[in-house]
Amino acid sequence: MSESATLAVGAKVAAARAKGHDVVAFAMGEPDFDTPANIKAAAIAALERGMTKYAPTAGEKSAREAVAEKLSRENGIVTKAEQVTITVGAKHAIYMALQAIIEPGRGDEVLLPTPAWVSYKPLIELAGAKCVEIPGAVEHGFRITREQLAESVTDRTVGIIWNSPSNPCGVAYPAEEVRELCEELALHERIAIISDEIYEKLIYPEIVPELTHFSPGSLAALAHRTITVNGLSKSYAMTGWRVGYLAAPIAMAKEIIKLQGQMTNSIPSFFYPAIVEALTNSAEGVEQMRARFAERAKLMHIALESVPGIRSVAPNAAFYAFPDVSRHFGKTSPLGARITSAQSFADALLEEVHVAVVPGEDFGACARGNIRLSFACSEAAITKGVGRIRDWVTQLR
Ligand code: PLP
Repeated sequence: MSESATLAVGAKVAAARAKGHDVVAFAMGEPDFDTPANIKAAAIAALERGMTKYAPTAGEKSAREAVAEKLSRENGIVTKAEQVTITVGAKHAIYMALQAIIEPGRGDEVLLPTPAWVSYKPLIELAGAKCVEIPGAVEHGFRITREQLAESVTDRTVGIIWNSPSNPCGVAYPAEEVRELCEELALHERIAIISDEIYEKLIYPEIVPELTHFSPGSLAALAHRTITVNGLSKSYAMTGWRVGYLAAPIAMAKEIIKLQGQMTNSIPSFFYPAIVEALTNSAEGVEQMRARFAERAKLMHIALESVPGIRSVAPNAAFYAFPDVSRHFGKTSPLGARITSAQSFADALLEEVHVAVVPGEDFGACARGNIRLSFACSEAAITKGVGRIRDWVTQLR
């Protein structure tokens, strides 16, 4: 398997910092905020009352119920607690969902609108299917169309990974476009929908008025074949806790929970009260972080627009900008590096001016000209880092 491109850049940043360089890191998709205090307190209290034993594989009943209620109330996905399993991050949920729908050796295909998060393709392939990319054009805000979706379906298609808001695109599909794509999916009974909604709470109507999240699993025509994935990493600043969850139709959930029982068993038992606290009593903390990210999205876009020769879609969700830098390919950097790809652009940028970005190659074939910048960092870092990029790009010859 290939190494995760984002984690690889993270390692390079650590190495550059160890050498004493002042690195501006736009690499990791990780909020710079701390986990809200009430969520931490719930875990600490649970630990202190001795919640230290094995828990049921799919999670404590109270946490599964809190997830089911959240999905029913906020997303319109009618969910019972038995359909839910709490997982080791959303990544683990996606891994298991793919293992559940793919039959190795059968020639299965899974659709993937791209640019897409780096782990989807390796996980599709690991489960034994072919990944069929559907490229979203920059001119269309990286969003795919119904026609493209219809053309990509074959009699081997068993699933689609849906991710809105998107990493790395930093955009959410308008609800009516999701509905239109779902109408197409409703025509193909064999297709399971894995909907990764981990950025659902990070949407910025400040940038695109009335932009809202829409969950495919809320549609009656798709509910019986949709696996909704989510987690606490991004919205609650809990990346290191490793807490995700999925909700699946009951027969599929049973199989997935069997797989989890053989893989990891439950997550740490004293986290369950913290999950309940996050899902039922933390809206204010989430909103404060969301509002800050919205400000940073604007700041990042304005800063990037001042960099010569790059094309950028204004981010309206998640915490990523994904500009196209391919107009600089074929040039030479101030210290003599040949810029021939997003990878060589990112390498030279880190080496020469100590700014870390993730090259686009691993986000899909259509993303080879792009770099990803995470703005889950301070406003000062955005201004300083993009300033360095601008000065460096101006010197490319
Ligand atoms: N899905 C997407 C789109 C992501 O960007 C990430 C993390 O970067 C994940 C899933 C994994 O999240 P978790 O930390 O819950 O495993």
